[in-house]
Amino acid sequence: LPTIFQDAIPLLKRIEQAGFQAYFVGGSVRDYLLGRPINDVDIATSAYPGEIKDIFPRTADIGIEHGTVLVIEETGEYEITTFRTESGYGDYRRPDKVEFIRSLEDDLRRRDFTMNSLAMDAEGVIYDPFEGQADIKHKIIRTVGKPSDRFSEDALRMLRGIRFVSQLGFELEPSTLMSLKSHSSLLSHIAVERKAMEFEKMIGGDFREKAMQLLLHSTLFKQLPGLAEQKEAIQEIAGLPMLKRLNTDQTWLLLLTYINDSPAEFLRLWKLPSKMIKERTKEKQILSFRTKGGWSKELLYYSGLQRVCNVEKVYECIHSISSSAIDELTKDYKALPIKNRQELTVTGNDLMKWTGRKGGPWVKVTLEYVEKAILNGEIINDQETIRRWLEKCSRSEKN
Ligand code: ATP
Ligand code: MG
Repeated sequence: LPTIFQDAIPLLKRIEQAGFQAYFVGGSVRDYLLGRPINDVDIATSAYPGEIKDIFPRTADIGIEHGTVLVIEETGEYEITTFRTESGYGDYRRPDKVEFIRSLEDDLRRRDFTMNSLAMDAEGVIYDPFEGQADIKHKIIRTVGKPSDRFSEDALRMLRGIRFVSQLGFELEPSTLMSLKSHSSLLSHIAVERKAMEFEKMIGGDFREKAMQLLLHSTLFKQLPGLAEQKEAIQEIAGLPMLKRLNTDQTWLLLLTYINDSPAEFLRLWKLPSKMIKERTKEKQILSFRTKGGWSKELLYYSGLQRVCNVEKVYECIHSISSSAIDELTKDYKALPIKNRQELTVTGNDLMKWTGRKGGPWVKVTLEYVEKAILNGEIINDQETIRRWLEKCSRSEKN
């Protein structure tokens, strides 16, 4: 077993020794069977939350009303969730009632897809009452039970289905797909934050073009923030041959270039973190400069290497050019005489001291002037050189 499981086995054993059952469940078992990297291991147990807290000395209540206790051990932190059933999905999203139970099979039954309804015990034995292993083998995404029931209970599952298509390249089983198409409007009941988590995983997947086609065919895209009117944009993006070379951030940036709305407004609709919104908005601006006038030393400098790489990668994707431009730009960037204002050997204070003038907008203007001269190789970044150069400039200005 991978070490991520090995490390957690002592926890399963301790729960078993206390007289309860405990299993690895969900994505970790699926990804293990697929030979994919495992994010985190979720543990499900017949013990009630209070009983888990009696077994482990260090715990935190992170979602105790849903049966989840965080157990803190030397090897890491583990979410341990009591077997449960859910009922009464009056609003197409969260269950009205969560009931703790002692049966593994009933816990697996409430899960979304057969490939996600697998459990594995401390000995590595797999429990698979809904034939998830067969579906994994055939690369099929199938709901546990009747798709229309499962999508009406929680409409987010439809977007999750497409997200898994994107990550795994599987096909939606025909009746699951049909039901998804006929229930897509129910996604409107789901909170933006939950949609965003799935969408973000979706646009980073290796099979994202396939997922985007499914968003279109199922009309699920109409329920996504800022995308209801963007059918053509999604279609164009899905058709870009280099699409999967982009990481998640870069794919967001790509999206921004195909929709007409203001980047910041669009990203705010998704309620993304403000830092992320700022970054992408800035990159979008840099991309416009780069598209109009190419990379100057100044644009490289003001952008910073990370943004240069993101922007160029997206530029190449939009225009379907495969080149070594990013390597070249990285070299150019590294060869810049300064990388940021902190590296300047003069400060605003120096300028005020040299001239005897009070601070004001002129300080910033002068520093930018110095920066440009250094970047373009007119002078070197040496304090005395800069002082003399500025003196000379002001003298010739006066003449
Ligand atoms: P990832 O590797 O991206 O974390 P995951 O399958 O572990 O994928 P999670 O969102 O972490 O997905 O959920 C963990 C498990 O909980 C799933 O594998 C599934 O069994 C169950 N699950 C999650 N969301 C739902 C849902 N909306 N409806 C039913 N079961 C769900
Ligand atoms: Mg998970």
